[in-house]
Amino acid sequence: MDSTELMQAAFAARDRSYDGRFVVAVTTTNIYCRPSCPARRPRPENTRFYASAEQAREAGFRPCRRCEPDGVTRDRAAVELAIDLLRQADARIGPRISLAELAAETGYSPSHMQRVFTRATGLSPAAYARALREERARVALSTAGAVTGAIYEAGFESASRFYDSMEGKLGMTPSAWVRGGAGATIRWAVVATTLGPMLVAATDRGVCRLSFDETAEDLAVRFPNADLVEGGEAFAELLARVIEAVERPGAGHDIPLDVQGTAFQQRVWAELRRIPAGETRSYAQIAAAAGHPGAVRAAGSANGANAVAVLIPCHRVIRADGSLGGYAYGLDIKRELLERERQ
Ligand SMILES: [Zn+2]
Repeated sequence: MDSTELMQAAFAARDRSYDGRFVVAVTTTNIYCRPSCPARRPRPENTRFYASAEQAREAGFRPCRRCEPDGVTRDRAAVELAIDLLRQADARIGPRISLAELAAETGYSPSHMQRVFTRATGLSPAAYARALREERARVALSTAGAVTGAIYEAGFESASRFYDSMEGKLGMTPSAWVRGGAGATIRWAVVATTLGPMLVAATDRGVCRLSFDETAEDLAVRFPNADLVEGGEAFAELLARVIEAVERPGAGHDIPLDVQGTAFQQRVWAELRRIPAGETRSYAQIAAAAGHPGAVRAAGSANGANAVAVLIPCHRVIRADGSLGGYAYGLDIKRELLERERQ
C-alpha cells in the first residue's frame, strides 16, 4: 500500500489514529477535514490529501466546521508535550506529574487533556505513566536480576505496590520470571495435530507456550528453572480444549493464557485477539489500533514475540500488500490456519 492508498483507507474507515497526520480536502466543497470527520464521504476523485492544515489552506481550502481539523494539530502538539513531560518525570527521581499539571502546561482543562491524550495514545496519562514505569521495571528485571533493586530503580515506592501493578499481567511473579520460571510448575505435552506436532505448556494460570515442531528441550530453554511435568490428568482437559481451538481456529475460545510482555506487547496481543476469525490486518493497522500508529516495526516484533500461537492469532496479521509476511512456524501453517478460518 502506498501512502495515498493508506490515507484513502484511513479516511474511508474514519480512523481517528490518523487525525493530525494529514488532512483531506474536498474539491467540490472547498473544505478540508481530519480523516475521522463524521461527514459523508465524497467521491475519491474529488479528494486531495495534504500533510498539514497549513498546506490545505495555502491551496485555498477552508477548515470543516464539523470536524475542526485545525484543532487536531493543537491536540497533537499538546499530547506530544504531555508525553515529553511524562517521560521526563519518569526519568528522574521525584514526584509524579499530575493531570492538572499536564493540563496547565498545555493550556487545556484537565478533562480535555485527559480526553485528547486518551484518544491519541489509547491510554490515559496516568496509565501511560504506569506503562512507562512497568517497561522500565521489566528492562531492569531482565538485566539486573536483583528484584528488589529493580523495583526501586523503577520508581515504585514499595514492593507491594509493584506486585499489585504486575499482578494479573504476569502469571508467574516477577521474581519467578527473572529466574526462568523458578517456583512455577509447567505441565506440557507434545501432541499430533493436522498441522503437525504441537507443543502445549501451561502453568496453573493458563497456557504459557503453544508452538509447532518444538520439544521439551525448547521449553526448558525458555523456562530453565521451572518444574516441567509431562502430561498428567490435571492437564488433560485443558489440552483437549487447546487441540479443539487449534483444529477449528475459527470457532473462538476462552482458554486462559499466562503470557508475559511489555505494556506495548500486551496491547498488540489484545488487538490481535480482537481480529475476527476469517479476517486479517496489516502490521500498520495493528500498530494504530495499539495506540502507536508510527510503531509499525515494533508491532511486528510484538507480533513475533507471541508465545502462544493460534490462541493469540498472530497469523491474522499479513503484509499491507496482501502477501502473507512471516510466521515463526512456517508459511504453510499460517496459510492453512487462514484458509480454515475463511470457511
Ligand atoms: Zn470535516
